[in-house]
Amino acid sequence: MRNYLLLTPGPLSTSETVRNAMLQDWCTWDKDYNEGVVTAIRSELLQIAGLGDEYTTVLLQGSGTYSVEATLSCCVGPQDKLLIFANGAYGNRMADIARYHKLDHTLVSLKETEQITVDIVRQSLAAHPDTTHLAVVHCETTTGIINPIEDIAEVLRGSGITFIVDAMSSFGGIPIDIAGLGIDFLVSSSNKCIQGVPGFGLIIAKRTALAACEGISRSLSLDIYDQWKEMEQGHGKWRFTSPTHVVRAFFQALKELREEGGIEARHRRYEENHRILVQGMREIGFTTLLPDAVQSPIITSFLYPEQTFVFADFYEELKQRGFVIYPGKISEAPTFRIGNIGDVFPDDFRRLVDAIADIRR
Ligand SMILES: *Cc1c(COP(=O)(O)O)cnc(C)c1O
Repeated sequence: MRNYLLLTPGPLSTSETVRNAMLQDWCTWDKDYNEGVVTAIRSELLQIAGLGDEYTTVLLQGSGTYSVEATLSCCVGPQDKLLIFANGAYGNRMADIARYHKLDHTLVSLKETEQITVDIVRQSLAAHPDTTHLAVVHCETTTGIINPIEDIAEVLRGSGITFIVDAMSSFGGIPIDIAGLGIDFLVSSSNKCIQGVPGFGLIIAKRTALAACEGISRSLSLDIYDQWKEMEQGHGKWRFTSPTHVVRAFFQALKELREEGGIEARHRRYEENHRILVQGMREIGFTTLLPDAVQSPIITSFLYPEQTFVFADFYEELKQRGFVIYPGKISEAPTFRIGNIGDVFPDDFRRLVDAIADIRR
């Protein structure tokens, strides 16, 4: 039995079978692990992303931010110029990373409810013609807003600018044509839409772009070039202690993604979760922060229904009924957030909406 459903990506709710994969200790020194599990995961990631030999993957210990930091601090060289777009905490975090590593960068900071549009990207590139790298968040989990990476890719096409996408909360849950969009580095993690547990990040990179990172890293443990070399040459060997239980759970989670019907099928389930949630919440009298046109099916922000609304009480009452949600994360308006991703299904959202209606009665 579950204690409660996590609607807080991430961590998010995982299946019992994924959790059970962690109930053994596993060795890391033989082919069963390095080839049978790690290399299999790396190939499967390329496969579900529809990628061929032109792309490769790196797995890196730590939460998702470690992989974003590793990517930025390995691919932006001393002569390069990074342009970052932010409409939420995760975009701003990339700028924090750039500051820590003293990368030459510009941050284009938008309101949290404002989508990063093609016009904004064009204008910023015109203002910073020396840009060599561009970084953007796909689904800003701060609010749930989706940024149009397809349109941004069109602006970048043929420019030679390295395209870095934080697709942490969307990869595996929203189809992304990584090769078609010319994405050089896409970063995600074990505990979002693949529905594993937290513990490592994953970077899907164009081989040529990753090869160009050699010798740039400002950090030993975050050197994705070195990590990649070791994984390639050691046939799945991690440089430092690998999070074996998390990796086993992720391996199982990938199997379950395949059984569900792949990314398209998972995307449909998340959309259905989201549709039931929003329709139900609107019937109860709640309003979404974002207009539907820019809203992702990953996580949804709702405005406080009245000034006297006490989130802490609402949170507790919901938790007692088996649902854990997120507080808001923005300054513009008082909000709370409900995630739609994880091992959660339309019926869970019907029960959630009923529980909320009951609390609000
Ligand atoms: C979850 C997430 C991250 C990484 O957060 P961690 O807490 O380090 O795992 C980065 N970007 C986005 C968009 C996210 O949703």
